[in-house]
Amino acid sequence: MEINLGKNIQNVKQRIATAANKRGVAPEEIAMVAVSKTVPAQKINQAIELGINIIGENKIQEARDKFPQIDRPVEKHMVGHLQRNKVKYSVEMFDMIQSVDSIRLAEEIGRRAKAKMPVLIEVNTSGESSKYGCAPEQAIDLLKQISQLPQLEVRGFMTIGLFSDDLEKVRPCFKMLKQTYDEAQNLNLPNTNISILSMGMTADFEVAIEEGANMVRIGTAIFGPRPTN
Ligand SMILES: *Cc1c(COP(=O)(O)O)cnc(C)c1O
Repeated sequence: MEINLGKNIQNVKQRIATAANKRGVAPEEIAMVAVSKTVPAQKINQAIELGINIIGENKIQEARDKFPQIDRPVEKHMVGHLQRNKVKYSVEMFDMIQSVDSIRLAEEIGRRAKAKMPVLIEVNTSGESSKYGCAPEQAIDLLKQISQLPQLEVRGFMTIGLFSDDLEKVRPCFKMLKQTYDEAQNLNLPNTNISILSMGMTADFEVAIEEGANMVRIGTAIFGPRPTN
Protein backbone atom coordinates (compact mmCIF):
# COMPACT_ATOMS: atom_id res chain seq x y z
CA MET A 1 0.00 0.00 0.00
CA GLU A 2 1.38 3.42 -0.96
CA ILE A 3 1.53 5.74 1.99
CA ASN A 4 1.17 9.48 1.82
CA LEU A 5 3.94 10.83 4.04
CA GLY A 6 2.80 14.44 3.91
CA LYS A 7 -0.74 13.56 4.82
CA ASN A 8 0.38 11.25 7.63
CA ILE A 9 2.62 13.93 9.13
CA GLN A 10 -0.15 16.54 8.97
CA ASN A 11 -2.53 14.06 10.57
CA VAL A 12 -0.23 13.30 13.48
CA LYS A 13 0.49 17.01 13.98
CA GLN A 14 -3.23 17.66 14.11
CA ARG A 15 -3.76 14.93 16.69
CA ILE A 16 -0.84 16.24 18.75
CA ALA A 17 -2.39 19.71 18.66
CA THR A 18 -5.76 18.40 19.82
CA ALA A 19 -4.19 16.51 22.73
CA ALA A 20 -2.04 19.52 23.66
CA ASN A 21 -5.09 21.78 23.68
CA LYS A 22 -6.87 19.31 25.89
CA ARG A 23 -4.02 19.56 28.38
CA GLY A 24 -3.86 23.33 27.99
CA VAL A 25 -0.39 23.59 26.48
CA ALA A 26 0.64 25.03 23.13
CA PRO A 27 1.06 22.40 20.37
CA GLU A 28 4.57 23.79 19.69
CA GLU A 29 5.61 22.61 23.15
CA ILE A 30 5.30 19.00 22.02
CA ALA A 31 8.30 17.77 20.04
CA MET A 32 7.74 14.96 17.58
CA VAL A 33 10.41 12.35 16.90
CA ALA A 34 9.77 10.45 13.68
CA VAL A 35 10.94 6.93 14.48
CA SER A 36 12.47 5.80 11.20
CA LYS A 37 13.70 2.29 12.03
CA THR A 38 13.36 -0.02 8.98
CA VAL A 39 12.56 3.03 6.80
CA PRO A 40 14.97 3.57 3.88
CA ALA A 41 17.12 6.71 3.87
CA GLN A 42 15.42 8.10 0.79
CA LYS A 43 12.05 8.09 2.51
CA ILE A 44 13.58 9.68 5.61
CA ASN A 45 14.94 12.47 3.41
CA GLN A 46 11.41 13.00 2.06
CA ALA A 47 10.03 13.18 5.60
CA ILE A 48 12.64 15.81 6.53
CA GLU A 49 11.64 17.82 3.49
CA LEU A 50 8.05 17.62 4.72
CA GLY A 51 9.00 19.18 8.05
CA ILE A 52 10.31 16.38 10.27
CA ASN A 53 13.19 17.78 12.34
CA ILE A 54 13.99 14.90 14.69
CA ILE A 55 14.38 11.23 13.73
CA GLY A 56 14.80 8.23 16.01
CA GLU A 57 16.58 4.96 15.30
CA ASN A 58 16.93 1.88 17.47
CA LYS A 59 19.79 -0.10 15.95
CA ILE A 60 23.37 1.07 15.62
CA GLN A 61 24.22 -0.95 12.53
CA GLU A 62 21.13 0.23 10.68
CA ALA A 63 21.87 3.84 11.60
CA ARG A 64 25.49 3.46 10.46
CA ASP A 65 24.25 2.18 7.10
CA LYS A 66 21.60 4.85 6.58
CA PHE A 67 22.91 8.07 8.10
CA PRO A 68 25.52 8.74 5.39
CA GLN A 69 22.63 8.84 2.90
CA ILE A 70 20.60 11.30 4.93
CA ASP A 71 21.61 14.50 3.26
CA ARG A 72 19.27 16.95 4.93
CA PRO A 73 19.74 18.53 8.35
CA VAL A 74 17.93 16.65 11.11
CA GLU A 75 18.44 15.91 14.78
CA LYS A 76 19.15 12.21 15.40
CA HIS A 77 18.07 10.37 18.54
CA MET A 78 18.98 6.85 19.64
CA VAL A 79 15.78 5.37 21.08
CA GLY A 80 16.65 1.66 21.26
CA HIS A 81 18.55 -0.48 23.73
CA LEU A 82 22.23 0.38 23.59
CA GLN A 83 25.01 -2.12 24.25
CA ARG A 84 28.15 -0.74 25.82
CA ASN A 85 30.35 -1.98 22.98
CA LYS A 86 28.34 0.19 20.55
CA VAL A 87 28.59 3.39 22.58
CA LYS A 88 31.63 4.59 20.64
CA TYR A 89 29.56 4.78 17.44
CA SER A 90 26.51 6.22 19.17
CA VAL A 91 28.23 9.26 20.59
CA GLU A 92 29.46 10.20 17.12
CA MET A 93 26.24 9.58 15.21
CA PHE A 94 23.52 10.75 17.56
CA ASP A 95 22.56 14.12 19.01
CA MET A 96 20.77 12.45 21.92
CA ILE A 97 20.64 9.01 23.52
CA GLN A 98 17.16 8.42 24.95
CA SER A 99 17.82 4.94 26.31
CA VAL A 100 20.28 5.27 29.20
CA ASP A 101 19.18 2.83 31.89
CA SER A 102 22.26 2.02 33.95
CA ILE A 103 25.21 3.81 35.49
CA ARG A 104 27.61 1.49 33.64
CA LEU A 105 26.16 2.55 30.29
CA ALA A 106 26.29 6.21 31.36
CA GLU A 107 29.94 5.84 32.40
CA GLU A 108 30.83 4.31 29.06
CA ILE A 109 29.12 7.23 27.29
CA GLY A 110 31.16 9.55 29.50
CA ARG A 111 34.38 7.78 28.50
CA ARG A 112 33.62 7.92 24.78
CA ALA A 113 31.88 11.28 24.37
CA LYS A 114 33.96 13.97 22.68
CA ALA A 115 31.51 16.69 23.71
CA LYS A 116 28.87 16.83 26.42
CA MET A 117 26.29 14.20 25.43
CA PRO A 118 22.57 14.87 25.95
CA VAL A 119 20.78 11.81 27.32
CA LEU A 120 17.42 10.72 28.69
CA ILE A 121 16.99 8.10 31.38
CA GLU A 122 14.80 5.24 30.18
CA VAL A 123 12.39 3.97 32.80
CA ASN A 124 10.45 0.71 32.60
CA THR A 125 7.12 2.05 33.83
CA SER A 126 5.08 -0.99 32.77
CA GLY A 127 7.16 -3.55 34.63
CA GLU A 128 7.06 -5.83 31.57
CA SER A 129 10.18 -8.00 31.55
CA SER A 130 10.45 -7.60 27.75
CA LYS A 131 11.20 -3.91 28.19
CA TYR A 132 14.45 -2.17 28.97
CA GLY A 133 14.77 0.73 31.36
CA CYS A 134 15.54 1.14 35.02
CA ALA A 135 12.88 0.39 37.60
CA PRO A 136 10.74 3.44 38.45
CA GLU A 137 11.86 3.42 42.07
CA GLN A 138 15.50 3.60 40.92
CA ALA A 139 15.09 6.45 38.46
CA ILE A 140 15.93 9.31 40.83
CA ASP A 141 18.91 7.45 42.27
CA LEU A 142 20.23 6.77 38.77
CA LEU A 143 19.71 10.43 37.88
CA LYS A 144 21.75 11.49 40.92
CA GLN A 145 24.57 9.13 39.96
CA ILE A 146 24.64 10.23 36.33
CA SER A 147 24.61 13.88 37.38
CA GLN A 148 28.13 13.26 38.72
CA LEU A 149 29.39 12.68 35.17
CA PRO A 150 30.36 16.00 33.57
CA GLN A 151 30.51 14.47 30.05
CA LEU A 152 26.76 13.88 30.08
CA GLU A 153 23.80 16.19 30.31
CA VAL A 154 20.60 14.54 31.50
CA ARG A 155 17.68 16.23 29.75
CA GLY A 156 14.88 14.13 31.18
CA PHE A 157 13.17 10.76 30.93
CA MET A 158 11.85 8.31 28.36
CA THR A 159 9.45 5.41 28.66
CA ILE A 160 7.54 2.93 26.53
CA GLY A 161 4.05 2.46 27.94
CA LEU A 162 2.38 -0.86 28.65
CA PHE A 163 1.39 -2.76 25.51
CA SER A 164 -2.38 -2.87 25.88
CA ASP A 165 -5.42 -2.03 23.81
CA ASP A 166 -6.92 -0.52 26.94
CA LEU A 167 -5.44 2.97 27.09
CA GLU A 168 -6.66 3.42 30.64
CA LYS A 169 -4.19 0.70 31.62
CA VAL A 170 -1.40 2.56 29.84
CA ARG A 171 -2.17 5.93 31.41
CA PRO A 172 -0.75 5.12 34.89
CA CYS A 173 2.68 4.46 33.30
CA PHE A 174 2.76 7.99 31.96
CA LYS A 175 1.38 9.50 35.16
CA MET A 176 4.11 7.80 37.15
CA LEU A 177 6.92 9.11 34.97
CA LYS A 178 5.49 12.65 35.03
CA GLN A 179 5.81 12.55 38.82
CA THR A 180 9.44 11.43 38.55
CA TYR A 181 10.06 14.20 36.02
CA ASP A 182 8.58 16.86 38.33
CA GLU A 183 10.61 15.55 41.25
CA ALA A 184 13.79 15.59 39.15
CA GLN A 185 13.21 19.17 38.05
CA ASN A 186 13.06 20.29 41.65
CA LEU A 187 16.39 18.67 42.55
CA ASN A 188 18.48 21.11 40.48
CA LEU A 189 21.32 18.64 40.07
CA PRO A 190 24.57 19.47 38.24
CA ASN A 191 24.94 18.33 34.62
CA THR A 192 21.19 18.17 34.22
CA ASN A 193 18.62 20.25 32.38
CA ILE A 194 15.41 18.38 33.04
CA SER A 195 13.11 19.58 30.28
CA ILE A 196 12.17 16.54 28.18
CA LEU A 197 9.55 13.94 28.98
CA SER A 198 9.60 11.49 26.06
CA MET A 199 6.56 9.23 26.11
CA GLY A 200 3.88 8.12 23.69
CA MET A 201 4.03 6.18 20.42
CA THR A 202 1.51 5.62 17.62
CA ALA A 203 -0.91 3.67 19.81
CA ASP A 204 -0.87 5.92 22.86
CA PHE A 205 0.65 9.35 22.18
CA GLU A 206 -2.51 11.31 22.89
CA VAL A 207 -2.81 9.78 26.35
CA ALA A 208 0.88 10.47 26.93
CA ILE A 209 0.43 14.14 26.04
CA GLU A 210 -2.60 14.38 28.31
CA GLU A 211 -0.37 13.09 31.11
CA GLY A 212 2.46 15.54 30.44
CA ALA A 213 4.65 14.26 27.62
CA ASN A 214 6.43 17.03 25.73
CA MET A 215 8.11 14.67 23.27
CA VAL A 216 6.39 11.84 21.41
CA ARG A 217 8.03 9.17 19.26
CA ILE A 218 5.97 8.20 16.25
CA GLY A 219 6.82 5.50 13.72
CA THR A 220 3.85 3.67 12.22
CA ALA A 221 1.47 6.65 12.03
CA ILE A 222 4.04 8.48 9.88
CA PHE A 223 5.79 5.81 7.82
CA GLY A 224 3.15 3.07 7.80
CA PRO A 225 3.39 -0.43 9.25
CA ARG A 226 6.84 -1.96 9.54
CA PRO A 227 7.67 -5.33 8.00
CA THR A 228 7.23 -8.08 10.58
CA ASN A 229 9.79 -10.83 10.84
C1 LIG B 1 9.55 1.76 17.32
C2 LIG B 1 9.59 2.71 18.46
C3 LIG B 1 8.69 3.79 18.54
C4 LIG B 1 7.61 4.06 17.50
O1 LIG B 1 6.65 3.04 17.51
P1 LIG B 1 5.27 3.17 16.68
O2 LIG B 1 4.33 2.35 17.46
O3 LIG B 1 5.54 2.64 15.33
O4 LIG B 1 4.87 4.60 16.66
C5 LIG B 1 8.81 4.66 19.61
N1 LIG B 1 9.75 4.47 20.57
C6 LIG B 1 10.62 3.45 20.53
C7 LIG B 1 11.62 3.32 21.62
C8 LIG B 1 10.57 2.53 19.48
O5 LIG B 1 11.43 1.51 19.48
